[in-house]
Amino acid sequence: MNFLEEKIVKEGIVKEGNVLKVDSFLNHQMDIELFNDMGKEWKKRFAGKNINKILTIEASGIGIACIVAQHFGVPVVFAKKSKSINLEGDMYTAEVESFTHKNKNQVIVAKKFLSEEDHILLIDDFLANGCALQGLIQIVQSAGATVEGIGIAIEKGFQTGGKIIRNLGYQLESLAIVDDMNAATGEIVFREQ
Ligand code: 5GP
Repeated sequence: MNFLEEKIVKEGIVKEGNVLKVDSFLNHQMDIELFNDMGKEWKKRFAGKNINKILTIEASGIGIACIVAQHFGVPVVFAKKSKSINLEGDMYTAEVESFTHKNKNQVIVAKKFLSEEDHILLIDDFLANGCALQGLIQIVQSAGATVEGIGIAIEKGFQTGGKIIRNLGYQLESLAIVDDMNAATGEIVFREQ
């Protein structure tokens, strides 16, 4: 088991509805040393990639992205969730359905922070059905920028997102892939990587 898998086994709680609760180190309280180790690992996995910006989505992606960015020496932009439909023209927008909240949000990034010169590393906490990532990819594409890679902390391999994103040809590096989890027993099975 790697450092993140060990942490998940120690502190993660499997909830009904395919939700893994990791708010003692990722989604509420944040373990910065762990984030730092995640940054080191992604820096290795994306070695040789020309990355000049990290893009994530609020809220839980932001903390991770900021620590990771120190390893790449690049700024972080986060997509904002907005309920407003009347958005001004100086924004890139995409619609994202939330897995955890079951609602739809417009996500927006100001045009001035993304351009065709940008080579982007996408970072997020979880990958489930892939809606959040597809929204971010759509925004990067609208800007004419390039997705150089995607770093996910925890991928739920029994949901469809990972397959969709890999089939699109992106280098997706999930630090822990949960292939099975059981709310009754609390058991979590990781994919060998
Ligand atoms: P997707 O868009 O891939 O279906 O879901 C990804 C988003 O939903 C992540 O950004 C994360 O915030 C949230 N999410 C999905 N599954 C889980 C989960 O099992 N636990 C937690 N804490 N968040 C999740």
